[in-house]
Amino acid sequence: TRPRRLSLYLHPYGEGRRLLLSRDVTEVEQAEAMRRDFVANVSHEIRTPLTVLSGFVETLQTLDLPKEERQRYLGMMAQQAQRMQTLVQDLLTLSRLEGSPLPGKAEWTPVASLLAQAEQEARALAANQGKRLDLRFPEACSWQVAGAASELQSALSNLVSNAVRYTPGGGTVEVQARTGEDGRLELAVRDSGPGIAADHLPRLTERFYRVDRSRSRESGGTGLGLAIVKHVVQRHGGELRIESAPRAGSTFTLVLPAGRVRAAELTPAGSDA
Ligand code: ADP
Repeated sequence: TRPRRLSLYLHPYGEGRRLLLSRDVTEVEQAEAMRRDFVANVSHEIRTPLTVLSGFVETLQTLDLPKEERQRYLGMMAQQAQRMQTLVQDLLTLSRLEGSPLPGKAEWTPVASLLAQAEQEARALAANQGKRLDLRFPEACSWQVAGAASELQSALSNLVSNAVRYTPGGGTVEVQARTGEDGRLELAVRDSGPGIAADHLPRLTERFYRVDRSRSRESGGTGLGLAIVKHVVQRHGGELRIESAPRAGSTFTLVLPAGRVRAAELTPAGSDA
């Protein structure tokens, strides 16, 4: 924690009068430094796939390659383009989350449907990565959550896709839905992956913070997933809990406050509670 710095300035008020005021510049400077970091990060993230893409284009333009080889190059180009698309998508999601309030009238969404969608995505992702994982999802869940369904889905899906991406083949990813303290709903995503050392944990939800840059990129990560999750849970009055240790796997838990969850069977169908 740096010492605070104050700047003094003359504030005009009334007829030719000035008031001597002080202003804390530490926070302004910090915000400015964060903005610069962010722009530098985004530029870097876009430049890397662009450089690879231009390299391939040049190769295809200058060399008369056999058809098979050309196809291979085109496949790698498509991958880089996809990477940029995902990055732009995540950036837009983040800026939307930061810039707009949560709609006043929340919709009730069955947790079962959030889980079903996340499970479908997890199975597709594991198959896509040629990985055999033991994927365990709750058989039934009668909870409903109030909020923006698409945001809550993206939070849960991000955690599940991280678990799948970072857990090596043969491992386990398990999702549990349970009631926590004070009637809060906990959606826990546990994996048997590499785990994360304690000194990284406090920074995981920062944009573009990655423990292992190349592993994140190889598995299609943008470095923005957990930043998105954090924003979504905060907007919904909840919290994200992270428990992890090297070689002991990780558990990421979405905790949603009681006011935003209800057990479906307690509420008659059609009621607007
Ligand atoms: P990324 O797109 O890089 O996965 P995230 O914001 O989703 O970005 O996660 C930030 C970093 O946290 C990752 O780069 C990775 O180092 C670490 N991480 C996230 N989830 C897991 C997990 N389930 N197991 C191990 N490390 C993880």
